[in-house]
Amino acid sequence: MKKLVVASSNPGKLAEIRSLLAPLEIEVVSQGELGIPDAEEPHFTFLENALAKARHTSRASGLPALADDSGICVDALGGEPGVNSAYFAGHEGTREERDARNNAKLLAALKDEPVKSAHYACVMVLVRHANDPQPLVAEGSWRGEITGTPRGTNGFGYDPLFLLPERGKTAAELDPAEKNRISHRGRALQRLISRLQEEG
Ligand code: IMP
Repeated sequence: MKKLVVASSNPGKLAEIRSLLAPLEIEVVSQGELGIPDAEEPHFTFLENALAKARHTSRASGLPALADDSGICVDALGGEPGVNSAYFAGHEGTREERDARNNAKLLAALKDEPVKSAHYACVMVLVRHANDPQPLVAEGSWRGEITGTPRGTNGFGYDPLFLLPERGKTAAELDPAEKNRISHRGRALQRLISRLQEEG
């Protein structure tokens, strides 16, 4: 595979994915660079949404496509916001405004909740062409807690709230390379890359 399109317009995700793909001899372009709009994400599972995004972008570009569907699953909220993480507090506004509202909503929802455990989940899908009958699929999960005091400026989305108790840091306080080594997205993509390399 010489070239692939990343099926995302999220700059935070794109930066992490590009950095993980950098060592491979593959030209990586984003769907935004090709003028491809975001796919619908109507499904109940990360897997179905990731597959829908990958097929949509591969169909529109005529190239292999890599998609990530991810979210934060909070135990005290029965796994919410989960697949709805991007739009937990509504669709209005810019990405930055949505992230700020999402974080404020999550903090408010957990204010009086003693159990703060949560995990990030990510499913990565690579299709070699739009109707690929054997997509490569890999998952990653990252456990932590939701902190009441947001910290850090790296990462994106819920990272300032996602505390790693064993490190005493939030995901937004990690150096980007360290986040990519241990995160849901980093692990999922490392696994997918291994499968791709096994294929030759
Ligand atoms: P989607 O995969 O496009 O549905 O969006 C995933 C959403 O989950 C993002 O917009 C964030 O709100 C959240 N999310 C997923 N991964 C991360 C992460 O690594 N850091 C922070 N937020 C994340």
